Amino acid sequence: MNKTIFEKIIDKEIPANILYEDESIIAIEDINPVAPVHALIIPKKCIETLNDLKPSDADIVGRMVLVANKLAKELKIDQSGYRTIFNCNDDGGQTVYHIHLHLVGGRKMNWPPG
Ligand code: 5GP
Repeated sequence: MNKTIFEKIIDKEIPANILYEDESIIAIEDINPVAPVHALIIPKKCIETLNDLKPSDADIVGRMVLVANKLAKELKIDQSGYRTIFNCNDDGGQTVYHIHLHLVGGRKMNWPPG
């Protein structure tokens, strides 16, 4: 199967601004930010969509959220506030089929989302 853009970033075949990395997660700056802070927290294991999560993935998803918590503090948006988003499939606006948690902040977010 063809690699997704995120697998190529994980394998260091294409560059990205890396904000965090450990054995199971990488976090990068989004190439097309929608807010002053826009990070993507990506598991190294490829899971295509949120629909494909299994109970055994609970640990990695929990760790992704903890990385969002850490980055929000480091990027100084923890007090002003921020939004975390998993887009799923077409109606959800998913374009890369390798799950990732968006961390966006640095401006007031609208609700309901567009
Ligand atoms: P999705 O629409 O699947 O929820 O989010 C995919 C995100 O990946 C988008 O916000 C898009 O800007 C970002 N993205 C796509 N290609 C690249 C890339 O090559 N590098 C980086 N850093 N981000 C990318």
